[in-house]
Amino acid sequence: LTWTVQGGWHSPTVTPYGPIALDPAAAVLHYGQEVFEGIKAYRHADGSIHTFRPDQNGRRLQRSARRLALPELPVAYFTQSLRELIAVDAAWVPSGEDQSLYLRPFMFAKEAFLGVRPAHKVGYYVIASPAGAYFHGGVNPVTIWLSEHYARAGEGGTGAAKTGGNYAASLLPQSEAYENECDQVVFLDKNRNVEELGGMNVVFVYKDGTIVTPQSESILEGITRDSLLQLAADRGHHIEGRSVSLDEWRSGVASGDIVEVFACGTAAVVTPIGVLKGRDFIDEQPTGELALSLRQELTDIQYGRIEDRHNWLVRLDG
Ligand code: PMP
Repeated sequence: LTWTVQGGWHSPTVTPYGPIALDPAAAVLHYGQEVFEGIKAYRHADGSIHTFRPDQNGRRLQRSARRLALPELPVAYFTQSLRELIAVDAAWVPSGEDQSLYLRPFMFAKEAFLGVRPAHKVGYYVIASPAGAYFHGGVNPVTIWLSEHYARAGEGGTGAAKTGGNYAASLLPQSEAYENECDQVVFLDKNRNVEELGGMNVVFVYKDGTIVTPQSESILEGITRDSLLQLAADRGHHIEGRSVSLDEWRSGVASGDIVEVFACGTAAVVTPIGVLKGRDFIDEQPTGELALSLRQELTDIQYGRIEDRHNWLVRLDG
């Protein structure tokens, strides 16, 4: 789809995968005016193809677009774009345990000019890639590096938007994590409250069953997290979205008040956090049953193995 100031959204097409021609002065290449989404298509045992809460991704894309001064794509167009792609690429949706087709909708400024202002010509695309099981031989706990130096986002910044610049800013801290033999980075805000990992939200389970997750204007609102917390609320857990300081995390684990820490996102669904490592400490993290049992319930819904009682699935084929 193309958007222009004069014509709005127009010219939907499905073309074979290949390079996109861009003017070297296209605004996205210089000013990063770009937003994207990540969502999966799942094949059920009867062969039908479904996606999960696309309205949520569509609305998040609108919020991201607004922050990046890009035009908002109507949610109906968003869902329709997934259907159109599946209509030609259904064979690419794999079947089998934890297999899916990862869909990557994205929007960027195509207009060629060198001044700094919102572009008047924008493109919206969807590409797809088959995704195998994220874990082989069971879900493995990840090790997390505490980034003391770098922030992922700031107040009033673009932290809540899914825009490339946030990910660009997370690459250097991510390399620091690898150098310290960790899988992922966890970011703090300027008050040393826990934000999120580079591509996943963080959730804490307390001894009394309360589930706490960091919430702020600079955290990307994960759809996996929202769904897992709804499933946990259905089971009677009390859910709190609030600030969690690094101190609360570390002392809660040390005292046994926090009984599980896990991360969640579309790609890995749920992964327990096994170790939190900083410049001068290594804290083993408690892992437990709740993360894995919520993961099982969510994937059972996504793959059509149990009833979709929240009506989260949307059929993409037929
Ligand atoms: N935080 C960040 C920074 C992310 O990139 C993602 C992945 N989109 C998430 C959280 C989790 O979001 P979701 O559950 O919607 O995939």
